Amino acid sequence: MAYSYEAPVSQSLFDRASVVTPGGVNSPVRAFRAVGGTPRFMVSGTGPYLTDADGREYVDLVCSWGPMILGHSHPEVIAAVQEAVSQGTSFGTPGEGEVALAEEIVARIEPVEQVRLVSSGTEATMSAIRLARGFTGRAKVVKFAGCYHGHVDALLAAAGSGVATFGLPDTPGVTGATAGDTVVLPYNDLDAVRAAFAAHPGEIACVITEASPGNMGVVPPADGFNAGLKELCAANGALYISDEVMTGFRTSKSGWYGVDGVRPDLMTFGKVMGGGFPAAAFGGRGDVMAHLAPAGPVYQAGTLSGNPVATAAGLAQLRLLDDAAYAKIDAVSAELRSLVGDALTKEGVAHTVSAASNMFSVFFTDRPVRDYEDAKKQDVFRFTAFFHSMLEQGVYLPPSAFESWFVSTAHDERAVERIAAALPAAARAASEATA
Ligand code: PLP
Repeated sequence: MAYSYEAPVSQSLFDRASVVTPGGVNSPVRAFRAVGGTPRFMVSGTGPYLTDADGREYVDLVCSWGPMILGHSHPEVIAAVQEAVSQGTSFGTPGEGEVALAEEIVARIEPVEQVRLVSSGTEATMSAIRLARGFTGRAKVVKFAGCYHGHVDALLAAAGSGVATFGLPDTPGVTGATAGDTVVLPYNDLDAVRAAFAAHPGEIACVITEASPGNMGVVPPADGFNAGLKELCAANGALYISDEVMTGFRTSKSGWYGVDGVRPDLMTFGKVMGGGFPAAAFGGRGDVMAHLAPAGPVYQAGTLSGNPVATAAGLAQLRLLDDAAYAKIDAVSAELRSLVGDALTKEGVAHTVSAASNMFSVFFTDRPVRDYEDAKKQDVFRFTAFFHSMLEQGVYLPPSAFESWFVSTAHDERAVERIAAALPAAARAASEATA
C-alpha cells in the first residue's frame, strides 16, 4: 500500500533506530508492522495532542496505551514529578510516597487488602501467578486465548496454534516445560473452565483473566462470566486473578471491579496508576499477600519498585481521578463511539463498535465478537485503510485492529471535532479497501 503523505524525520529516526534496536522499536506494536508505513516518532504531548518529529500534530487516541488518562503533560502531574525529582530519584529504601500510593489503591479497591508495587504490568502478573502457585502449592495456570498479561513466559501461550489446551509455546524462547503448565481456554466459555478443572483435579493454582479484555480489541465478559470464574475457582481451591493492568482506575474509580463487583483473590494493576511512569502493582487478599517475602516465603523484589518519582506521578494522577473525571471520560467515549459507528454505517462498512465502560474498539465485522477467534474474523484490511486515513488527517489510532482505543479527560470539544471531521474520509477509505 502506498501512502500519500510522508514523515521524513520519523523515517530517518526509524532508519537509525533499526540499526541499533531490533525492528527499530522497544515494544513491537509501535513498529506499525500490522498496518505498514512509518511509525511516528513523537516529541511532545499536551492534553489530547501529540506532536511528531516532523512537526505534525495528532489527536491521540492511544494515550500511551492507557496511562495518560488525564491527557499529556497534565500540569499537576508534572508539578508532582518535578517536586519529587528535586528530592532525588531513587533511594533503594522505603519512602512515604509508596505508602501513600498503596493506601490510595487499597482505599479505592475493596478486595485489595495489601498491595506490592512493581515497575511494569508484566512484573505484576508474573509475581501474582508465582504467589498463587506458592500459596496453593499447585503448578497449573489457566488463561484465555486473546488475553494478554504482559510477556511473562508462562502467559505468552495462546490458542493461535490450534493445539491450545496444553499451552504449546507460541514464541521461540518459551520452552514447552514453561508453557506446559499453562492451560489456554477460549474466552467467555465457562464450560471450558469447568472441563479444565475436571481434567486437572487439584492441579490448578489460578485462573488469570483480563477483568475485561482489551488486547484482542475490546471484548467484554459475557454476563456472569467473571462471577462464574470466581465461583469455579473457589469450588476448586484455585485463586481467581483479575488482571486490571488496562482496566484498573480507567473503567471506573475502582476499575472493572467497580463495574461488575466480582471479588478477585488477587488483582494486577499498571498503566493509569503510574501516571506515565513505570509503576505497577499486584495485591488482594491479606492471607495470600502474607505469603510474599519478607513476610512469607514467596520471593519477589525490585531495585526500582516504588520509585519515588513514579509513585509521585501515579499518586498525583489518581488523586485527580474523581467521579467528575470518569463522567467526562465516559461521555467523550460515548460520543466518539457513536460518531465512528455513524460514519461507518453511512459508508456501508460492516462493523461492531465494542465497548467496556469507556474503553472501546471497532471490529470490522458485523458478526458478534465474544472471543479471540471471532475477533480474528474481522476485515483487518479495512482497519488498515481506516487507520491510515485517520493518521493522514491527524488522528493517532492504535496501529492494530486488536487494540483498545483510549480517551482522556483532556479530549475536549475541539479534539472531538477534529476526529469527527476525519471520520467520513476514513470510513470511505475502509469501504473502498480491498483485501
Ligand atoms: N496485562 C494487561 C491486561 C495489559 O494490557 C498489559 C499491557 O498492555 C500487561 C498486563 C503488561 O503490562 P506492561 O506492558 O506494563 O508490562
